[in-house]
Amino acid sequence: MTRFWSPVVHALSPYVPGEQPKQDGIVKLNTNENPYPPSPRVEEAIAAATDRLRLYPDPRASKLREAIAPRYGVAADEVFVGNGSDEVLAHTFQALLKHEAPLLFPDVTYSFYPVYSGLYGIRYEEVPLDAAMRVAIADYRRKCSSILLPNPNAPTGIALSRAEIETLLTEHPDQLVVIDEAYIDFGGESAVPLVARHDNLLVVQTLSKSRALAGLRVGFAIGQRPLIEALERVKDSFNSYPLGGLAQAGAIAAIEDEAWFTEARRRIIASREKLVRDLSGLGFTVLPSAANFVFARHPGRSGGELFARLREHGVLVRHFRKSRIEDFLRITVGTDAQCDRLIAVLRELI
Ligand code: PMP
Repeated sequence: MTRFWSPVVHALSPYVPGEQPKQDGIVKLNTNENPYPPSPRVEEAIAAATDRLRLYPDPRASKLREAIAPRYGVAADEVFVGNGSDEVLAHTFQALLKHEAPLLFPDVTYSFYPVYSGLYGIRYEEVPLDAAMRVAIADYRRKCSSILLPNPNAPTGIALSRAEIETLLTEHPDQLVVIDEAYIDFGGESAVPLVARHDNLLVVQTLSKSRALAGLRVGFAIGQRPLIEALERVKDSFNSYPLGGLAQAGAIAAIEDEAWFTEARRRIIASREKLVRDLSGLGFTVLPSAANFVFARHPGRSGGELFARLREHGVLVRHFRKSRIEDFLRITVGTDAQCDRLIAVLRELI
């Protein structure tokens, strides 16, 4: 029965997240989660916060913003937090990216961007990646209101340098540039140090990947005060309490445990380098990844076929039915044991 739907709902084409299998024993390399548990301090902090469940949480998440700010060299009021960076991005689309001139983002990128554009009625243009599947910043010299780039890009994993981002900011002083740094902690250069001298920069990050907290749903944005204020206005017109008290407590503990963070990143990067060597050894072409996933294709096998055969063998990776990337697999860096299992199955298949 769709007759009660608001007209806009008929036109939506919602984002489809990667599968979350119910059965055990699956090697799950399809949603770029961290294969390791989060800092043990997170669980302790959440347990300690349960005695305040009767109360509403802090609507401003002040302590969390105060924990994030000094680590990124900004003031707490230059930090906005939300229920996953997806929510932070959604508010960014509504608060900052809806203008007469189009928003630009790459043609191969995070597939939620066109979905938010559809939800909020935002005009956008897709800018093709270059022949090497890179974001070429010179191609963004066209009429636009704003530019949105993930860095590293997803699903390619290829990163831009901070110098390239700064060139983009300087070339577009009157356009907002949003950098989605969901995967920045695995080897990329964050644009956060550029926030102080560029009022047209908003950086979005998440605790889902490098802090292993995809299940807690915490993301944040960093930018100069007027940008953050726009996000706060939308948030406070939508949900006063997007982050529960347990999420705030757990996120603070995760941000504070820098030793865990450093070691977790090191391990993922080391496993990625091994995975790239092993895939290359099997004849795969692997794009240069600065993320916790790799994007790879085999000259002799279609992406769709490999995806299906891996799945039959209990190994889940991500495959996109989209021209230019349909022969690629996006493979999350798992534990070394998980990656070894993937390689063993691929060796059988190829
Ligand atoms: N940006 C990119 C590029 C992503 O791949 C993801 C994860 N799907 C997100 C943002 C959102 O992550 P989360 O909502 O878990 O913070």
